Amino acid sequence: MAITITAPARISPSQYFRVLACPYQSLLASTPEARSLPGMFGSGGASEVGTVVHGMLKRSVATDLSDAVAFESVWQELLSEKEADLIRNGASHLVPLTYRANGYAVTKLLLSWHLAMMPKAAPFPGDSDIPFGAEKWLSDNSGSVGGIADLIRLGIDGPEIVDYKTGSIFQLNSNDEAEIKPVYSQQLQLYAALLHEQTGHFPAHLFLADLAGKEHEVEFTELGCLQLLSNARRLLTQMKAAVNAGNPESLAIPSQEQCRYCQVRPLCSPYNDWTEQLGA
Ligand code: SF4
Repeated sequence: MAITITAPARISPSQYFRVLACPYQSLLASTPEARSLPGMFGSGGASEVGTVVHGMLKRSVATDLSDAVAFESVWQELLSEKEADLIRNGASHLVPLTYRANGYAVTKLLLSWHLAMMPKAAPFPGDSDIPFGAEKWLSDNSGSVGGIADLIRLGIDGPEIVDYKTGSIFQLNSNDEAEIKPVYSQQLQLYAALLHEQTGHFPAHLFLADLAGKEHEVEFTELGCLQLLSNARRLLTQMKAAVNAGNPESLAIPSQEQCRYCQVRPLCSPYNDWTEQLGA
């Protein structure tokens, strides 16, 4: 099958970890052919509700959603946007999410409790070169790496970047100890590097916030953040070069761990070649 692959204009911090694991996967995922794959919406609607929750958490930074009327009004607004998006992208079988999405009622209830109990945010300083506030665009100088940080606020030690997560933030490492998922910690470290590139200042702290209202600090070093940014730029250059050379398949990194849950696997010829070699 001929697949229409184009080079990305940039890499966002939220994409970086997945792109690093298999750049070809992210190229395939943005093709028109990928949209019609049933596996692209394989979470039974839970991740789509997660998107609505994420929007609510971001909206709550600027708008008080602690009372039921305000909560319901914004919830319905964001839900309608998400459902229209699903219909546009050929996933109307998940609409209405109210009835079709796994865990819809529990997720919504947990969120309403969380927002009702959330402390009021401090006002953002207006006279700063730091872009304080919710949903702030951060980018490197070349525009190769950029994305929207959920929240940049002023803490006791200086600026803090907060990213909201609706799913599990932790995973077990090889020693069976809980650790913050690298996909999330690297995302935040990239935001830190972008803030530095934009303003000359690193944040004092990085946090991941969960639906239960807890914040989990992500440790970082300035050098580590800058190295991640450099890697992301290099990755984008490699992807553009491979696409321009007409050889995007060379970016595929097949592995059991990566391919097992890959939603675009039906489009991936390097995967077929790899499994044939394994079976030979
Ligand atoms: S099937 Fe494997 S090699 Fe192919 S795009 Fe997906 S992760 Fe990459």
